[in-house]
Amino acid sequence: MHPMLRLVCTALLCSWTAQAVQAAPVTDARLANADNEPGQWLSVGRNRDEQRFSPLTRINTDNVSQLGLAWHADFDTNRGQEASPLMIDGVLYVTTAWSKVYAFDAVSGKALWQYDPKVPGGTGIKGCCDVVNRGVAAWGGRIYVGSYDGRLIALDAKTGKVVWQVVTVDQTKPYTSTGAPRIANGKVIIGNGGSEIGVRGYVSAYDAKDGTLLWRFYTVPGDPSKPYENEQLRKAAATWNGDLYWKLGGGTVWDGIAYDARTNLVYFGTANGTPWVAEARSPGGGDNLFLNSIIAVNADTGAYVWHYQTTPAETWDFDATSPVMLADLDLPAGRRHVLMQESKNGFFYVLDAASGQLLSADKYTTVTWASHVDMATGRPVEIAEARFGKTGKPAIVQPGGQGAHSWHPYSFSPRTGLVYMPVVETSTAFAPDPNYVARPGSANTAMGRTSPTIYNDLHSDAPRTSRAYLVAWDPVARRELWRSENRGTIASGVLSTAGGLVFQGAQKGEFAAFRDSDGMKLWSADPQTGVVAAPISYEIKGVQYIAQLAGYGSRDYYTGNRSRLLVYKLGGKHTLPPTGELPPARTFNPPPAFGDEALLARGADTYQVHCVMCHETQFGNRGLFPDLRVSPMINSADSFRTIVMDGVLEARGMVSFRDRITPADAEAVRAYLVRRAIDGKAAQAAVTAPVAAPAQRTAAPR
Ligand code: CA
Repeated sequence: MHPMLRLVCTALLCSWTAQAVQAAPVTDARLANADNEPGQWLSVGRNRDEQRFSPLTRINTDNVSQLGLAWHADFDTNRGQEASPLMIDGVLYVTTAWSKVYAFDAVSGKALWQYDPKVPGGTGIKGCCDVVNRGVAAWGGRIYVGSYDGRLIALDAKTGKVVWQVVTVDQTKPYTSTGAPRIANGKVIIGNGGSEIGVRGYVSAYDAKDGTLLWRFYTVPGDPSKPYENEQLRKAAATWNGDLYWKLGGGTVWDGIAYDARTNLVYFGTANGTPWVAEARSPGGGDNLFLNSIIAVNADTGAYVWHYQTTPAETWDFDATSPVMLADLDLPAGRRHVLMQESKNGFFYVLDAASGQLLSADKYTTVTWASHVDMATGRPVEIAEARFGKTGKPAIVQPGGQGAHSWHPYSFSPRTGLVYMPVVETSTAFAPDPNYVARPGSANTAMGRTSPTIYNDLHSDAPRTSRAYLVAWDPVARRELWRSENRGTIASGVLSTAGGLVFQGAQKGEFAAFRDSDGMKLWSADPQTGVVAAPISYEIKGVQYIAQLAGYGSRDYYTGNRSRLLVYKLGGKHTLPPTGELPPARTFNPPPAFGDEALLARGADTYQVHCVMCHETQFGNRGLFPDLRVSPMINSADSFRTIVMDGVLEARGMVSFRDRITPADAEAVRAYLVRRAIDGKAAQAAVTAPVAAPAQRTAAPR
């Protein structure tokens, strides 16, 4: 039996029974005073400042070596896990891929209820980066989840039964919802995703009681033949050219949102535009507001208050959607209530939370697209060669499209005054597609292909493979204090505690604790899978726990990805089931090459438009989707066609492309992949690892 199958049917998940949960309602007062309940984790960032800092101290630098597993639960999915749980009055609430919600007794791990919104498998194609979910919000005895297909669902916190649900997006368009909702004075705030394909971004506020839509703030102007929703959007329209902006859109709010009771503002970050390449998106220039911006709106009305655009006329996929975090900092100019963002573009921003005034912007990693941010104008000073759409020449840029950091939560410790943050050293070879035409419903990046030898051709010493780190950043002194390597190509989410500890998982399979003062690794455990989500901590009856959701591409698609919740305590003796024998990592086994150069070029172009988003590592594929060069399916035209054209794997998210490409296109893609596999095999000629048999998936998890 393949190990994945055993995991699907553990004792916990095969005997779900709804039963009463004794949980007190979360109120606005409790959320406002979260620091008075240090043992709880009431909202996804723990407090409204989204600091992800636990004031608990029972687990500390002196005893963390005794940390052991208290319990675990395995889930019925092998897709990516990105959520942080909540812990409210003894109940742990967590979401998994496909937007499923689970409630557990936080001490024993006993399953209390589960809810499955039954997201259609075919909606998987609507997102760039897997059918993930990053958590729930709690208020008034209810648990709120955004489902991948764009619903906002209120569940009874005691039973998991649906109280109400509303559709927050036009489901005929490629909108997704993966971020955790936030609560602002009885309202549920939720955004959406889809800027890689083309949708108009916005944030909505719903009445937490009954799901009534209260306000909506669009991040980019709409069809100019219709009235603008507000004066700000009318002004924003002057920063655009052409007509793609309202036909495709962008600027989605797919992750970072915060509510600040002190300013009564809701803050959120917006994504890139559609397409990525500014010259293709807005011919003739323009800043393209409010793409790649941090925006503040009035929490009661949704009215615009301020914005700061991190990357005007953005062209490298530098979404400004990273978590927004609030803190009071003693800056040289005095104590300030600030908003901080470790942005995807490589700059760490500190803004005045009330006014949006830029206080500092510093590189926290290697950045080659801009020299610095001009503090007088607030604008980045660009390196001309990096703007590849303007030069028309390929450019290798750091950070790459993956970003120096993306959604992965970071933590501010009031104990040390430091921000502990995931950082990736990465680069991308960008090139414009001179033949770009907008394709509604498909990936719209306007990125052209680059040669595999481009790094050599351009004599670039930029990293060709991403490397991840945990970095301790001083937001007042504006410098890095220490960094520790984080195993993988994605830097994982972070928790810091008053016990002097920083907890972080690793994509390549580890969960570890570091000393907050110097980064010394004091403890680690093997979760048997990759970890990218951020942990939380809670305390019940004098026992402190650390909870971590695991499961994200520990090796590759073919060896499987375990999805599980791990809960640790001092002296915990629980053990994980043995892993059994994993199949060896798959390597190249292509059939003979076929097709002439015209067919290969057709295959390459089709692949670039329709396949790269999921199947190339620089986009969504980080071991969660097959590397098609090593897929056995390229060895058979019939097998390839049944998947690509007939859609036999639709329930798992791989839809049919029959409405997008022809059977001849599909065969051209196969020819292209076979050629790439042959090239890959030649490049690895010294490697003689055996090829594994296809993993058995008779009851395929999805
Ligand atoms: Ca993006």
